[in-house]
Amino acid sequence: MTAIPGDQDVPALILICDHCGRAHNGQSEAATKWQSLWEEAVSAGWHGLDRPVGPHFCFRCAD
Ligand SMILES: [Zn+2]
Repeated sequence: MTAIPGDQDVPALILICDHCGRAHNGQSEAATKWQSLWEEAVSAGWHGLDRPVGPHFCFRCAD
């Protein structure tokens, strides 16, 4: 699923798993940028294309 903006007041992105819908919220201010959010997600076990349009799969669905 496409990475979507979070609350309008917060310039953060939320990554959502295409398979189960699990959301990955950025843990730091760096996650306000896609590349930083994705790198953070990858380190947490996420897999997928290195682009906001995805697809992306969470650490549970990546196996
Ligand atoms: Zn998943």
